[in-house]
Amino acid sequence: MKIIPYLIICLIPLTNYGENRKENRPNILFVFTDDHAPHAIGSYNGWLKEVNPTPAIDKLAESGMVFVNSFCTNSICGPSRAVIQTGKHSHKNGFMNNGNAFDWNQQTFPKLLQKAGYQTAIYGKSHLKGKPLGYDDWAVLPGQGLYYNPDLIFPDKRRRIEGHCTDVVTNLAVEWLNKKRTEEKPFLLMVQHKAPHRSWMPALRHLPLYDDIEIPEPPTLFDKWTDNAPGARLQELEIDRHMDLNYDLFVDLTPAFYQEPSQKAQDRSASRNMKRMTPNQINTWRSHYEPKDAVFKKAKLSGKDLVRWKFQRYAKNYLRCVKGVDESLHTLQEELRKLGLDKNTIVIYSSDQGFYIGDHGWYDKRWMYEESLKMPLIVKWPGIIKAGSKQEEMVQNLDYAQTFLDLAGAPQPKDMQGRSIVPLLKGEKLDNWRKEIYYHYYEYPSVHMVPRHYGIRTNRYKLMHFYEFGDEWEMYDLKKDPDEVTNIYGKEEFLELQKSLKKRLKNLQKFYDDQSDTSVRPEYIEKYRKKS
Ligand code: CA
Repeated sequence: MKIIPYLIICLIPLTNYGENRKENRPNILFVFTDDHAPHAIGSYNGWLKEVNPTPAIDKLAESGMVFVNSFCTNSICGPSRAVIQTGKHSHKNGFMNNGNAFDWNQQTFPKLLQKAGYQTAIYGKSHLKGKPLGYDDWAVLPGQGLYYNPDLIFPDKRRRIEGHCTDVVTNLAVEWLNKKRTEEKPFLLMVQHKAPHRSWMPALRHLPLYDDIEIPEPPTLFDKWTDNAPGARLQELEIDRHMDLNYDLFVDLTPAFYQEPSQKAQDRSASRNMKRMTPNQINTWRSHYEPKDAVFKKAKLSGKDLVRWKFQRYAKNYLRCVKGVDESLHTLQEELRKLGLDKNTIVIYSSDQGFYIGDHGWYDKRWMYEESLKMPLIVKWPGIIKAGSKQEEMVQNLDYAQTFLDLAGAPQPKDMQGRSIVPLLKGEKLDNWRKEIYYHYYEYPSVHMVPRHYGIRTNRYKLMHFYEFGDEWEMYDLKKDPDEVTNIYGKEEFLELQKSLKKRLKNLQKFYDDQSDTSVRPEYIEKYRKKS
């Protein structure tokens, strides 16, 4: 009879102390940002690399694996997150565009991780509407959330927290690690930042950053889209015509500012946000921008010079926001180290899609062109991933749910449509890995007026179909034409290739069971004719 208390005493150290707990399934820290394009990360080696905006993310890459061919399935915020939650394409999880509401009652990977014995938490931007399910603890921004002194919705109440959103969210995650984590269980901690999403308002300490340099311009800043289907010429996401000097670039913007925006769907959150900045915050903000605005107004820029100036201010603010999330990643990893959790925690950095930082003359995302199709994906898994490795296999956000389940040793439901990337993380060579990816974007007509389209991308070619205004196709050779400016669709020498890509695209639609309506909309054609 004396054996039982003895056993209990023996078991205490095994069950109560973090790294010594009986099981050794890894913890997962998933840092996920909004609109962070891979080419704004040093280790992705894009044209912004010389600005070096991401030392902490680059360090993560040096000790982990960079996925250089990582893509989304539908390049927009909410849908990308819904794909991650469910491991299913938009047409299967029901969240096809930002106007939809996510059905939280469906199967999601955090719910399955909970079932498998993980403690789960999410902080920051959810963008899926409704109270998040599948989490033991959470606090999410309402909708897009605000950069300064944001409101956050907690399970019991809504509360405003003073500070810059990136710092506020990081602090909540740090607090969770220290005070709310259950040591008996492995954890999934999702830290989801608003940054660097529009309205690109950096933290006060980052305002002077990049003041003394010129950001290099993308090679396609003055693209005229001559080879593209008509949609590319009729969109509303140009730095030139659609980026607002006041609301987007803060020229003369004050808490009292009001002016009818140039676009119907203009994001006015910067002006709204200024109304809730503290006097100290607004003073620091104004002392940074006002002298620069005075110089700008005096210069009376126009044409390409004005585009160049707008690009500089936009890219600098965007990269300043990136700097904030880079610091967040550093802080979170330091916290893991202090708590002795760094050895058994997988750290993942990703963002919901890519973004145009002046590429093709644009900002925003949505298109299947490379800059917004690509997502960053960097994974550090101490003791498993070979440090500094580059993975070239094509992966998608569709794979995340099954990957998380696989990492936790939990079963992967048959109706999920991705594939666990765990073998790739382990450096295994797989002959049967996917040779192409499928994409479908649905949000039209809507903000930025990017038409619906779907397509296939292989490791070399891309074929896209724009269907609402007629039967419009684009095809690119990504090896010879990485900027996608020469449309080879319909060209004699590529007809065989075109035929085979079309067949493969059809097979993909069948494989993923995408039966979405892709018929021509005569009413849109009429509108387009009028505009052009
Ligand atoms: Ca986004």
